[in-house]
Amino acid sequence: MNTPIKDHATASVEFNKDEDYVNWHDETLWFVRSKRDKAVFQIPEWEQLREAGSQIKNHGLSNMHDLLIQFEEKATQNGIKVHWAADGKEHNEIVLSILQKAGVNRMVKSKSMLTEECHLNDFLKEKGIEVIDSDLGERIVQMRNEPPSHIVLPAIHLKKADVGETFHIHLGTEKGATDPQYLTEAARQHLRDTFLTRKVALTGVNFAIAETGGFVVCTNEGNADMGTHLADVHIASMGFEKIIPKAEHLSVFLRLLARSATGQPITTFSSHFHKPREGQEMHIILVDNGRTTQLGRPDFRNSLKCIRCAACMNTCPVYRRSGGFSYHSAVAGPIGSILAPNLDMEKNADLPFASTLCGSCSNVCPVKIDIHDQLYKWRQVLAQGGYVSKVKTVGINSMATVLNSPKFFRTAGKLGRFFMKNAPFLVNNSMNPWYNQREMPEPPKESFRDWYIREKGL
Ligand code: SF4
Repeated sequence: MNTPIKDHATASVEFNKDEDYVNWHDETLWFVRSKRDKAVFQIPEWEQLREAGSQIKNHGLSNMHDLLIQFEEKATQNGIKVHWAADGKEHNEIVLSILQKAGVNRMVKSKSMLTEECHLNDFLKEKGIEVIDSDLGERIVQMRNEPPSHIVLPAIHLKKADVGETFHIHLGTEKGATDPQYLTEAARQHLRDTFLTRKVALTGVNFAIAETGGFVVCTNEGNADMGTHLADVHIASMGFEKIIPKAEHLSVFLRLLARSATGQPITTFSSHFHKPREGQEMHIILVDNGRTTQLGRPDFRNSLKCIRCAACMNTCPVYRRSGGFSYHSAVAGPIGSILAPNLDMEKNADLPFASTLCGSCSNVCPVKIDIHDQLYKWRQVLAQGGYVSKVKTVGINSMATVLNSPKFFRTAGKLGRFFMKNAPFLVNNSMNPWYNQREMPEPPKESFRDWYIREKGL
C-alpha cells in the first residue's frame, strides 16, 4: 500500500518540530548561499555571463527538436548508441534491457536527478538488479533508504553523527565515530570495491553538445569517471533540456554552474565523453518525461533552462526551513515547485504555494529563470483548474471580496481588532494556521487610516 503523500505545509510542521535542527539546516544552506555570493562578486562580468547563459538556453529551447536530431546524428557517428524515451517507464526499461544484454545484475551509478525523477533504483531493485550510488551524499541517503533532499548536496539534511551511525550500521565503522576523514575513508574503500567490480556504469548528463555529439558530466568526487573508466558499458541518462548548440557554449555554463552551486570557480571534474573507448559500449538515453509538454506552456517553458545548480534552493527561506523532503518531489525547492505541477497537477498542487514570492530565487538563478513569477502563475493555473483545496479557495475568495471593497475592508479591520482584544480565543486557536506558527500581535487601537484622518484633521 502506498503511504499517502503529506502536503508541503503538513510535512514542514514535522520538520520544524526540532528547532535547533531547523536552525542548523537553515544556517548550513545560507553558508552555501554566501559562498556563492563571494564567488560571484569576484567576476565583474557575472551579469553578462548570466545573460549569455539565458540566451543560449532560450535558443536551445526554441530549436530543441533540431538540436536533438543533430546530437543524435553526431553521437551515432561517434559510435554512441542513442535511445529515445517518452517517459520514465520507457527510460527504465531501456536501462534494464542494456543490463540484461550485458548479462549483469548490478550497476554503479553517479548522481543523476533524472533517474530519481524516473524512480530507476526502485524499478531495477524490483527486477533483481542492485544499484550502488557512487556520489558520497547519494550513497549515504541510499543506505538510509531515503531520497536525496537537495539536488547538489543530497545528504545536506544529515549531521556528522547521523552519517557516523549510518556507516556504523552499513559499513561497520566504529560506533559513535564522527570524524569526517575517518568516515570518508570508509566510504572510499567501500566505493572503490564497487567501482572495480561493476561492469556497467550509469551517469547523468549536465550538458550535451549538438555540434559534436559529446556530453559533459560534472562531479566534485570524480565518481562518474571512476565508474565509467572501469566499466565495459557506460549508460548516460539525459533530459531533453540538457542540449546546448556548441562546444564553445560550455565555457559559459561551466563558469555559471560551479559558482552558483557551491561557490567554486570550477567543478573539480568536468568530464567530456565523445565516444566509447575501444571495447566499451556507450549508450545515451534522451528522455522527454513531460519536457515537451512544459515546452508547450508559454508561461512555464523557461523552467527548462535550469542547469540544476540549486542556488534557488539555498537562498529560499522556505526551503531552508522546511527541508527537501517536504516537497515530495525528486527536485525540491523553488525550481522543483515549478517543474513538478507539469508532471502531475493534482499531486503537486501544493508546491507553488510553498514560497513567499520574495523573488530571491529569480535573483540568484544563473540562467535568469523567472522562478517566482512562474510560482505565482502556477497558483492561478492550479486554482482555475480546481486543484487547490476547498478551504484555500474559500479563504482566497473571501479575502478577494474584502480587499476589493473599502467598506468591507474597514469593517473587517474593526471586527478583527474588536475580537482580538475582547475575545482573542476566536482568533488565537488551533483552527487558525497563522496562530499555530506565530505569536499574534497586540491589536492596535485604530487603523492607520483612522489615525491619519484624525492626525490630519481630515
Ligand atoms: S532554477 Fe536556476 S537557480 Fe534554481 S537550480 Fe535551476 S539554474 Fe539553479
